[in-house]
Amino acid sequence: MDHIRNFSIIAHIDHGKSTLADRIIERTGGLSSREMESQVLDSMDLERERGITIKAQTAALSYKARDGREYRLNLIDTPGHVDFSYEVSRSLSACEGALLVVDASQGVEAQTVANCYTATELGVDVVPVLNKIDLPSAQPDRVIQEIEEVIGIDATDAVFCSAKTGEGVDDVIEAVIARIPPPKGDPTGPLKALIIDSWFDNYVGVVILVRVVDGELKPKDNILLMATGAKHLVEQVGVFTPKSLQRDSLGAGEVGFIIAGIKELKDAKVGDTVTTVERMAAAPLPGFKEIQPQVFAGLYPVESNRYEALRDALQKLQLNDSSLRYEPETSQALGFGFRCGFLGLLHMDIVQERLEREYDMELITTAPTVVYQLALRDGTVIEIDNPSKLPDASFIEEIREPIIRATIIMPNEYVGPVITLCEIKRGTQVNMQYAGRQVILTYDMPLNEIVMDFFDKLKSNSRGYASLDYEFRKFRAGDLVKLDILINGDKVDALSLIVHRETARYRGRELASRMRTLIPRQMFDVAVQAAIGSDVVARENIKAMRKNVLAKCYGGDISRKRKLLEKQKAGKKRMKQVGNVEIPQEAFLAILQVE
Ligand code: GDP
Ligand code: MG
Repeated sequence: MDHIRNFSIIAHIDHGKSTLADRIIERTGGLSSREMESQVLDSMDLERERGITIKAQTAALSYKARDGREYRLNLIDTPGHVDFSYEVSRSLSACEGALLVVDASQGVEAQTVANCYTATELGVDVVPVLNKIDLPSAQPDRVIQEIEEVIGIDATDAVFCSAKTGEGVDDVIEAVIARIPPPKGDPTGPLKALIIDSWFDNYVGVVILVRVVDGELKPKDNILLMATGAKHLVEQVGVFTPKSLQRDSLGAGEVGFIIAGIKELKDAKVGDTVTTVERMAAAPLPGFKEIQPQVFAGLYPVESNRYEALRDALQKLQLNDSSLRYEPETSQALGFGFRCGFLGLLHMDIVQERLEREYDMELITTAPTVVYQLALRDGTVIEIDNPSKLPDASFIEEIREPIIRATIIMPNEYVGPVITLCEIKRGTQVNMQYAGRQVILTYDMPLNEIVMDFFDKLKSNSRGYASLDYEFRKFRAGDLVKLDILINGDKVDALSLIVHRETARYRGRELASRMRTLIPRQMFDVAVQAAIGSDVVARENIKAMRKNVLAKCYGGDISRKRKLLEKQKAGKKRMKQVGNVEIPQEAFLAILQVE
């Protein structure tokens, strides 16, 4: 096994992880140059378009090193965005080492630190790599110092490279071989393989990606999935190069796939241990902790007859995205839809876009919210993921909201504005540390404030230089109230929010005035009110429309009239009839625009 190296690349988003992965694949001949499209590991259309990695991907590569020996390198790519950090820990569990890529012109950022800590916690060796040294603004020496001060690891032997020009990429590969240990494990023991990922393929069914720890895996083996107890006959094993390549066996220390005629994804749970029926492993490997969605929103089809189609689409999406949750929900205003749980706002955005693009759904999405824990007067504790489900105040002893611990890293000139922002967002400072030019701020903050618009504000208060990482800490009681929106006197459940009492009036007023600009004029006057309980805190009027759209057209020009009507129809698509008022998608998300 000493010719095998299993490694991941970890980095803050945009520091060049995918580019470096591609360069390594190119150098190690995993693909012909014709197949080397840009960023081969980001295979989903959305990943490529947005330049982000969502699912971890793998590549088994072979490389003839400077010592003259042939090595097998298994590269397991990881996502860089905070929403998908659980995928990072999964990938790292299959590795002995990780390349910590840091953009030499940017320096250490929040996910650089978070991912590096994840690696060290899992006992994975970290090799610092300074990327983008081709940029005139690169300051590798300063960044080395930053890595040592901020993260506290030795970076004197950091490798310099440019994933763009290819300079230093061979040094990176040599460092993988020299500085990352080969896998350990018992090649002749009972089979023990960790499921790193699993997904559904329309042609072959469930594909399981495993790291074989002990033993060997071959076609025709009878495998047992230890957590679920499911038994299956192995049809194929192989590796991704990143193209899939069948092999006769997978040995200890290797990373590869299993196809075993599994129909249901729930049989092959990520984190489970695969062993054989004939020679069972004594105990399973430690798995992963389950991830919980943090952000919830209602998704409703614009056309109510598309409800079943939306259910099918969600079901299909979930096959390859086990972190997505959904359950049916009914709204007085929006009809039948689903309450969906996401890892964060980016995840929510991606799911929404995939539903629209891949499944041709037209959706109305409600404002994202967090889960609240309610201690009721009768002594029970319940959780709600929809503000409109908040019971009457007389039943509630206490409303608790999720608090996260945020780590924010920024150059010291932005500390002032960032602290101000954290205070406005009800944060409590936990720590402030100076490291060279960088400052690391730690705050405990309500997750709800992060969900609203914290990230955009953070970026604008720091000219894009601050980076954020956060993790859930606890539920904490807060002075929270429900803010309702009434349209022509009727409460619209899909617009209810839970907010802090101190900002409730202000937010109510802002929201009502925002809605006035977003709801188009109707044939009659429309009143928009914001209320806390029975206390109306704001009222806005949308005056009735006077002119017909067609009145703007010249008499006989049919085509122009048709065009205008079509345009109007297209513009109308994302509208939902609530009572007799047409409300556009933007109005449901108006709270996100309130300062
Ligand atoms: P990831 O988010 O970490 O996967 O980052 P990407 O690999 O997608 O790279 C982010 C951006 O940085 C892309 O526009 C790349 O072309 C660019 N980039 C990556 N490596 C280098 C490099 O070595 N030099 C320069 N100048 N740009 C690079
Ligand atoms: Mg990437």
